[in-house]
Amino acid sequence: MSIKYLSTRDASVRFTPAQAIVSGLAPGGGLFVPERIPTFAPGALEALIGLDYPSRAARVLAPWLTGFPEEALETMCRAAYARFDSAAVAPVVALENGLHMLELWHGPTLAFKDMALQLMPHLLAASARQTGERREICILVATSGDTGKAALEGFADVPGVKICVFYPENGVSEAQLLQMVTQAGGNVRVVAVRGNFDDAQTGVKRIFADPKCSEALNARGVVLSSANSINLGRLAPQIAYYCSAYVDMVSSGAIAMGEAIDVCVPTGNFGNILAAEYARDMGLPIGRLLCASNENNVLFDFIETGVYDRNRPFHLTSSPSMDILISSNLERLLFELSGRDDAQVRAWMARLAAEGRYRLVGEPFTRLQATMSALWAGQDAVAGEIRETWAREGYLLDPHTAVAMRTARAFRAREGAGRPMLVVSTASPYKFGRTVLEALTGPVSGTDDFACCERLAEITAQQVPEAIAALKSKPVLHRDVCAADGLWQALQPLVER
Ligand SMILES: *Cc1c(COP(=O)(O)O)cnc(C)c1O
Repeated sequence: MSIKYLSTRDASVRFTPAQAIVSGLAPGGGLFVPERIPTFAPGALEALIGLDYPSRAARVLAPWLTGFPEEALETMCRAAYARFDSAAVAPVVALENGLHMLELWHGPTLAFKDMALQLMPHLLAASARQTGERREICILVATSGDTGKAALEGFADVPGVKICVFYPENGVSEAQLLQMVTQAGGNVRVVAVRGNFDDAQTGVKRIFADPKCSEALNARGVVLSSANSINLGRLAPQIAYYCSAYVDMVSSGAIAMGEAIDVCVPTGNFGNILAAEYARDMGLPIGRLLCASNENNVLFDFIETGVYDRNRPFHLTSSPSMDILISSNLERLLFELSGRDDAQVRAWMARLAAEGRYRLVGEPFTRLQATMSALWAGQDAVAGEIRETWAREGYLLDPHTAVAMRTARAFRAREGAGRPMLVVSTASPYKFGRTVLEALTGPVSGTDDFACCERLAEITAQQVPEAIAALKSKPVLHRDVCAADGLWQALQPLVER
């Protein structure tokens, strides 16, 4: 049964999965959503148990990406996940008291973005073939840190594709910065934006929305696409690891098939947690879905009160990939909460654009509260969590995962430790070596991030991952900076070539 995608802002749109992946954003600025959410056939979940990760992923993806034969999907998944340093790809590690960590950082850039961005270039290339796209595809990325490198790793030197990454000048960690500015590849450009992540994201969205930009690019045989988490090719691969983790928990005896688990996700742009929600809609037994935020707790307030209000101070925190005040993928949840009412979503988004806030009342708000719970943790609590989890359980958390861990524990202290809890672990602690080291030892001065990682490895008797150690000797290839309203100009050298 083939599936079409409509827009959150125009339910009359009908795109094939391939067209949706090539386009990124729907016409009119909405996000693509499936006309109906696929569900597991009886026994389909059980059937995943004996499979390895690439086969599981292909099975879960197939009903979302009709038009791609399942064998082709499996070939793509095998290629994508071959670069991971764990045979399980996304292993589940059991800690004490029914807490389980879903480790999503075994890919080449050590963060969960690889789960999607190693696969997406394959999906995009296959989609372009399917839609007969002849133009060169130019991927524009706004990143709060991890997406940038993961997208560069995925797309560098892919034929027929160019990629330009914009990151907030002072909003990424030293390691994240080095990972990006040392990226080689004849088709890549990396530019710092004077502003925060929202400025970068707004700038990218403006290029997408401006017909003059697309005309100018079209004249040069170039078409824009996005690798941001709003792209279906990013979102769909993320559904798979929740299903895989669940059946891993069944095989390990942690749960019985059909038993519900709670899931806690450290959230920024809302892509990861939305994939969990889609997995639940498919029939995966998820009980409570917990949205974990840092000080930028706009989602916490939204889930508690129904008011989404971005008019608030922006905090730079120790978990930079969650420093976001406009969570783009939330629009897809809003579409479901509204009862799939595109006019209602348009109205909310218009308010968000004009006033920076909107409010859910009545049925949509009731549905929101039935869908998820929210908690947040500040930097001191996060540092404490890293220290305590290491001391008690010998498990090292990165700051993003520590936000989730802290909130998962707080949630269970409040509600009782009923169901097993899957805590989503989104980055290697070595990607944020300084923060993690300081959490363990107190303030560290006079050392660079590499020295922090080496010290961290020493005191935990672990090894610095090769992807970090290798950065030290790589030359810096990208030094360009642009103003928050200068992204279009900054893109030109890449598309003029
Ligand atoms: C991107 C990212 C997040 C946030 O994920 P979203 O899908 O944007 O909500 C959390 N942690 C890390 C390490 C990330 O890179």
